[in-house]
Amino acid sequence: MRLKPSRTAPADGPVLEVQRARSTHVEGATVRRALPHPRRRTVGAWCFADHFGPRTVPAGRVGLDVGPHPHCGLATVTWLLSGQAVHRDSLGTVQTIRPGQLNWMTAGRGISHAEEGPVLDHDEVIHGIQLWVAQPEATRHGAPRFEHHAALPHRVEPGLDVRVLIGELDGQLSPARSDTPLFGYDVSLGAKERLLPAEPAFEGAIIVLDGAVEVEGQRIEPGHLAYLGRGRDTVVLQGAPTARLLWLGGEPLDEALLMGWNFVVRDIDELEAAFESWEADDGRFGRVEGARAARIGAPGR
Ligand code: MN
Repeated sequence: MRLKPSRTAPADGPVLEVQRARSTHVEGATVRRALPHPRRRTVGAWCFADHFGPRTVPAGRVGLDVGPHPHCGLATVTWLLSGQAVHRDSLGTVQTIRPGQLNWMTAGRGISHAEEGPVLDHDEVIHGIQLWVAQPEATRHGAPRFEHHAALPHRVEPGLDVRVLIGELDGQLSPARSDTPLFGYDVSLGAKERLLPAEPAFEGAIIVLDGAVEVEGQRIEPGHLAYLGRGRDTVVLQGAPTARLLWLGGEPLDEALLMGWNFVVRDIDELEAAFESWEADDGRFGRVEGARAARIGAPGR
């Protein structure tokens, strides 16, 4: 684990940096970790991106199966393309999430949660992305909260489908709240060239979830992060021949972060304190009631 906080400077202007996500396997599923990356720690305040699946879970088994675990200093963002999960947290929330819906859990000083699928009575494809948004110094010690949004701004036209997870599109504002200026769109597009809006002061990146997209003559596929820098008022994208992707970013976060396990902090003492609180179960992260999977112990360190 990194012991020092780190930060990568945002590009001053438009760039196209394509970097490979780190691929890992969790219970037979491929997970592609696009963020953090050694060359790109954050994009706006987005600081973590794990793209999982697609994989088919057979009847009688469980899809997502993540037992109670803690967070602090960040918001978790769950976004599914296929499958379902039940979110339970230490605030007492029990919330099913399905594709097209958004779970946005802000940890502040501490929260714990579990994300579990039901025992399936039919084969089901699990596919989605788990994102984290770092909280700035001003809010990261605040109270935890949870938001579920069943309906998000959605623009559909031939060859283009955009859902606004966070931020706004043509005046349509997502109901989700973030602590720093942020945007995140789920975009499906065909082979015709399309313009997406961008805010020049923001940095942005593309994570392809399905198919492939062409950006400035480069083909981007799942398993990569395409960082586009700042200074753009539009982004030109073309499916190759079709793509589903996230276009996300925001105001560059001017803070060095220390990320360890499920915690985003600023120094090693804070990290140690978070580990100790979870191990001691001292109340900082609360308790998740009713979870099927076991509480996840802190990893060795
Ligand atoms: Mn989590």
